[in-house]
Amino acid sequence: MKKQLRQRGGGGGGAVVYGTTRTRSDLFESLPDEIVIVILCKLNSTASSPADFVAVLLTCKRLKKLGLHPLVLSNAGSGAVAVRAKNWSDEAHRFLKLCVNAGNKEAYYTLGMIRFYCLQNRGSGASLMAKAAIKSHAPALYSLALIQFNGSGGKKNDKDLRAAVALCARAAYLGHVDALRELGHCLQDGYGVRKDVEEGRRLLVQSNACELASVLRAFNTTPSHRPDLIESNGSPCRYGSGLPENKLHPANRFLIEWFGLRGCGVPGPGLRLCSDGWCGRPETRRNEFRRCSGCGMVNYCSRGCQAHDWRVHHKIECAPMEEWNHAIDGVDEEEQLTDDRTVEIDEIESDEPLDSSL
Ligand SMILES: [Zn+2]
Ligand SMILES: [Zn+2]
Repeated sequence: MKKQLRQRGGGGGGAVVYGTTRTRSDLFESLPDEIVIVILCKLNSTASSPADFVAVLLTCKRLKKLGLHPLVLSNAGSGAVAVRAKNWSDEAHRFLKLCVNAGNKEAYYTLGMIRFYCLQNRGSGASLMAKAAIKSHAPALYSLALIQFNGSGGKKNDKDLRAAVALCARAAYLGHVDALRELGHCLQDGYGVRKDVEEGRRLLVQSNACELASVLRAFNTTPSHRPDLIESNGSPCRYGSGLPENKLHPANRFLIEWFGLRGCGVPGPGLRLCSDGWCGRPETRRNEFRRCSGCGMVNYCSRGCQAHDWRVHHKIECAPMEEWNHAIDGVDEEEQLTDDRTVEIDEIESDEPLDSSL
């Protein structure tokens, strides 16, 4: 039997149908809104960029209308709200606000970080991060902990160590490795919490084990899927060692790009960025961050960033200032740093005069 061929739509997008008068567009139109919304929720939760989501909105009027349904916006994943600093505009801000109004916790966190650190709207930024934290968003809890540890956005005396430790503990409970490490150090040092060296050490070991497991998971994926972890000669990339697969949150990427594009890496007069290349947090007042006690040349917003940067870069770069002086004077020139050296980060802010070398 000869099949009847019908084509509708006129252009290249028309549907070709055999032996029936029904078309794909008719089938799509017959789908209840609820079904389309469920599909859009699924798509939006796995989108890798806002562009993926916008492409769906631009497909047709119906998808545009249903794509902006609060249920769809509230299910947007971190990729769907991962606005890039180079694309920042009123429209991008409005898009994030739409997701915020729908109750999306990733949008709460991303816009909160952007407002707090980039737009310097501290109150609104912290409030948005708090809304994400209430929804058990671990990065938001950890970021709020760092704000409390550092007294960011305020003065040195605005630090609230007990609140910071409580936020850290909650983030650690939710599986945030940097929060777990920070909590371990706090317990070990009695910083903002009663000293418990044994428990602190246990948490530090646990955080290292979690990070190692994350790295192993990353290496167990097919190399072709993780080209960033493979050097051109096929060997594992040095930069990839020690990095959890999902270390760089889109909000951190935004901060890094923002200050790289607009401030040439400098967030303001006398202010510095965290030296961990995967953080992007800037100081909100002079000498807010702590510096490496080994070389005095790098500054970190947290122990998590210090530990991460130590493994990735700083371990081979750090040299105590006195060793430089000795080398210059021709003394102990053969002395080498051992791989096992551990370096603390010092709190710079104190009542004593600041190091003039800063
Ligand atoms: Zn940092
Ligand atoms: Zn150093």
